[in-house]
Amino acid sequence: MLGLMQDVPLLISSLIVHAARHHGDVEIVSRRVEGDIHRCTYHELHRRAQRLAHALDALGVGSSARVATLAWNGYRHMELYYAVAGKGAVLHTINPRLAPDQISWVIGDAQDGLVFFDLTFLPIIEKIALSCKTVKAFVAMTDRAHMPATTSVTGMLCYEDLLAGQSGHYVWPVLDENLASSMCYTSGTTGNPKGVVYSHRSTILHTFAAALPDGLGFSARDVILPVVPMFHVNAWGIPYVAAMVGAKLVFPGSALDGKSLHELIEAEKVTASAGVPTVWQGLLNYMEQNDLHFSTMRRTVIGGAALPQAMLRAFAERYDVTAIHAWGMTEMSPLGTVCALRATHGDAKGEALYRVRGKQGRAIFGVDIKIVGPDGNELPWDGVAFGDLLVRGPWVVREYFHASGENPLVTDADGVAWFPTGDVATIEADGYMQITDRSKDVIKSGGEWISSIDIENLALSHPAVAMAACIGVKHPKWDERPLLVLVRKPGVDVEGAEMLRFFEGSIAKWQIPDDVVFVDAIPLGATGKMQKNKLRERFRDHLLQAK
Ligand code: AMP
Repeated sequence: MLGLMQDVPLLISSLIVHAARHHGDVEIVSRRVEGDIHRCTYHELHRRAQRLAHALDALGVGSSARVATLAWNGYRHMELYYAVAGKGAVLHTINPRLAPDQISWVIGDAQDGLVFFDLTFLPIIEKIALSCKTVKAFVAMTDRAHMPATTSVTGMLCYEDLLAGQSGHYVWPVLDENLASSMCYTSGTTGNPKGVVYSHRSTILHTFAAALPDGLGFSARDVILPVVPMFHVNAWGIPYVAAMVGAKLVFPGSALDGKSLHELIEAEKVTASAGVPTVWQGLLNYMEQNDLHFSTMRRTVIGGAALPQAMLRAFAERYDVTAIHAWGMTEMSPLGTVCALRATHGDAKGEALYRVRGKQGRAIFGVDIKIVGPDGNELPWDGVAFGDLLVRGPWVVREYFHASGENPLVTDADGVAWFPTGDVATIEADGYMQITDRSKDVIKSGGEWISSIDIENLALSHPAVAMAACIGVKHPKWDERPLLVLVRKPGVDVEGAEMLRFFEGSIAKWQIPDDVVFVDAIPLGATGKMQKNKLRERFRDHLLQAK
């Protein structure tokens, strides 16, 4: 017997229709690349998304056609999110920090027919335009007055011209919920990036889970500033979650420095935010230097890289902001775990609380996790055993784009398929997972594993340290030993020997790095993560030479 409920597919268009109908007056505020602040409501944004959908029809964008964006967080980007997916095409968000030849490679691989771009990225478009054979037109996301006077790109279109004259009424088609809605390439450190293709169904289910109180926990009482970019895993789903719950959105555009973020947070009365640790470090440094505070901001979700203890404490003790640690990946839409507290934590305070909050958290419903040893057998949840972290769920990748059926999944003894994340983790008895490393970043010293994240975390709690990367480098006796690469805070001095003494008593002696090197900057990848592979190349023989 089948259930007798209405057969309404899970579609992305339903989010913006809901937001326009039930939260129509709620604002979406954007700092534009043109320099000013733009304001509109969900109702207005829906209207413009409908006009854009007509414009896409007029340009011949058909079902499942790929439409790319190279854009910051802003209302026009959000219009594209809804118009492209809503009409049954696929939004391909491109990370503009990829090298230009990688950008043209992903455009070719995805077979993008149109590329929408913010004016900031015109120089990239000019570099790649000729090599993008699949692209019929490049669309500048601006109005006629701001169109570039001269450019080498032929036939460039103007976003506002496309919308002008189109009807604000569009009947969103009833699609198969398993159709592709958007795609995003992983910025792997080796080989070509891999395409991850999300569906309407996976996106809506992820949105429900992310909207749970112990998920991202956003509500209609929130003013959300997504600092995490809309070009990376759909800004962790915030453009969808905000529409689902009716939260006000504040988009920072390209201005991600501490001063611009703080001004926007105060001016728009932002209550909650989300981003990677490196962005928050910039904001915290600026606020400390200028003795500033937050009037309304109370929560920020931090993920993409481990949340350092020093940052967790700074947010809590200096600014009364709860930093909520979360973990996920492009292949997971991206949310897997969130570090929300349980009733058993009662009113835990101080060290005990920070210890819990520093972990990557517990699985949200929809995602299952387990750790396995080299034999593929599940390891105990005791907070000590660490192994490869596997995940499964309806918003976890099954196959990469253009992978010709190649299967990234592993099947366990019960015949259940899991995606290997490439992360190494422990899980506590109460389900709190902690990432100890990326499997390729693990340091293996004489057969013992050392967590680079633990060491970086500790190094960052030293007042003179701005950034820290711990890498395994060659050692004649132990195969590999940890080397700590540090960036000093401006105007503060610290020597290597002092740093090494700083570790004494906090970690086992054999885990203390063998040496410390200071650099001006640690190379960051396209998503703001430290490129440890570059450091490993540079310092590979450091300890051999030192002997
Ligand atoms: P990406 O697909 O580019 O978002 O990268 C996903 C990877 O980032 C994960 O597999 C982890 O290695 C890392 N990552 C994400 N969130 C965290 C976190 N909270 N702590 C440590 N590593 C993280």
